Amino acid sequence: MAFPPASHSWLPWWASVGTRPLRSWWPHTWWRMAAPPAEPPTVYLTFDDGPTAIATEALLRILHRYEARATFFLIGHHVQAHPQRVRRIVEAGHAVGNHTFTHVDAWQTAHATVVRELEHTAQAITAHTGGPVSLLRPPYGHLTPALCHWAGRHGVRVVMWDVMPADFQRGASAMSVARFTTAYVRPGSIVVLHDNPMTEPITLQALEAILRWGTARGWRFAALPASQTGS
Ligand SMILES: [Zn+2]
Repeated sequence: MAFPPASHSWLPWWASVGTRPLRSWWPHTWWRMAAPPAEPPTVYLTFDDGPTAIATEALLRILHRYEARATFFLIGHHVQAHPQRVRRIVEAGHAVGNHTFTHVDAWQTAHATVVRELEHTAQAITAHTGGPVSLLRPPYGHLTPALCHWAGRHGVRVVMWDVMPADFQRGASAMSVARFTTAYVRPGSIVVLHDNPMTEPITLQALEAILRWGTARGWRFAALPASQTGS
């Protein structure tokens, strides 16, 4: 097991490598996708917290330049504020998922409230895309058994991550995020980044570096499939 670069804090390492032994405890969750050996290595970039006024468009432009697809986990009240950006994301071939209506923490919130937030958000997204919402990422990655069972009953897949470079963390830089990602990414990895004004300067620059690195190696960047079709 590799140790993190000395310049980086332990959070991304713990979230990315330290969680590996715990992942199989959670039903109906994806951390890393199956990687068919005959296909080019594929990475699943994901962006949480959008859509936002400026960052979403900038992310879409960079992804387009590298012919990369990704998955955006949307906050319901941001969907209502920026409906045209939801349509832009989907029209560009990216996938969208549910990130609750107000970014509630499932560890601190009654399950019924979390479910109401998820349903409300799914309705808001579907109103602008016309399609069902079958992917869900809990804010902060805070899983609960009730949430996983709810997802299983409703044909919704809970999406966690294989690589979390912590672009939101104090002290993170574009270089630390890109370096951590390229050091730990594997075929099938799901990577968490953010569509958030707080992280925008770091995330945009890191995304560019990650896409340049992966494209030079013949890696493919794809949107997550709808929950029924994945591994
Ligand atoms: Zn979030």
